[in-house]
Amino acid sequence: MRVTIFNEYLHELENDVVHDIYPEGIHATLAEAVTRLTGAEVRSATLRQQEHGLSQEVIDATDVLLWWGHKAHEEVADEVVDRVQRAVLGGMGLVVLHSAHYSKPFKRLMGTNASLKWREADEKERLWNLQPAHPILAGIPDYFELPREEMYGERFDVPDPDELLMLSWFQGGEVFRSLATWRRGHGTVVYFRPGHETYPTYHDPNVQRIVANAAAYAAARIRRPDTGSPETSPIEQVPNPGKENVLSATTAKREE
Ligand code: ZN
Repeated sequence: MRVTIFNEYLHELENDVVHDIYPEGIHATLAEAVTRLTGAEVRSATLRQQEHGLSQEVIDATDVLLWWGHKAHEEVADEVVDRVQRAVLGGMGLVVLHSAHYSKPFKRLMGTNASLKWREADEKERLWNLQPAHPILAGIPDYFELPREEMYGERFDVPDPDELLMLSWFQGGEVFRSLATWRRGHGTVVYFRPGHETYPTYHDPNVQRIVANAAAYAAARIRRPDTGSPETSPIEQVPNPGKENVLSATTAKREE
């Protein structure tokens, strides 16, 4: 499995609190965990790199892309967003983390605002495992807690998930659909909620396990663009093989 981890990588360089938690960046902590838990070949990409480190060559060699972003979603080039969307429709997996709910690729693939409620108050999050038999939840107990996290509350403006796997409860009273999947074309999109940059969330063993399992689950089985809608020859004899002249008189011929 070939994993690429995209991290905006700005908070870690600008804020001492975040730097102390993730001295080499959130991507480095995630890369260590995913490598250790899955044996995958992992590379990183960051916003300030050429093409954000996500050239066509990199995307073509990626089975699953992880995405963490927060303050600079708008700086992500639309050309790269197009590239990620095409790749997912063709089979690449995409695992969207925490504040990347507002990232351009996630919003594009959902087709909704992906908006939610939030609060930063050092409160407890309890994550409930709704589907213990699901591969992404392998090794995860019925629930686990993060002592301090940012709160995300419903309504989360996304299409109904194909699979809803975890539900979070917060000390302040809100709930949130915190782990979910969607099929898009041949690809799988996973959203996983925790991971605010001022808390050590990505050092938590359960969180690391879920991120690694999600990468393995969403990783591409095939890559097939399927961008055309070709007119196609019949497999068996059909009643009107000579209908071409009728069709050309009534409808514009579709481009292949
Ligand atoms: Zn956050």
